[in-house]
Amino acid sequence: MDPKLPWEIRVNSKWCKNCGLCAAFCPRGVLEMEDGPKVKDAALCTGCLMCEMHCPDFAITVTRREEK
Ligand code: SF4
Ligand code: SF4
Repeated sequence: MDPKLPWEIRVNSKWCKNCGLCAAFCPRGVLEMEDGPKVKDAALCTGCLMCEMHCPDFAITVTRREEK
């Protein structure tokens, strides 16, 4: 993942049940399902947290990187 991008998207594969809700609710098409959610284009992420809010298993988190 590009460390220059402001948002870091992490998936806990131990908790993820591959339901696809995160990808379905992402308004920017950042995520795609491919044996679990994969970040297709992290540069499109706006940090809206829709993915995080809709994950029933608390398996995806989006955090802002520290400004360097
Ligand atoms: S924070 Fe928003 S834009 Fe970023 S991956 Fe999640 S739903 Fe998509
Ligand atoms: S919503 Fe949560 S459990 Fe469902 S695919 Fe996404 S990360 Fe996995």
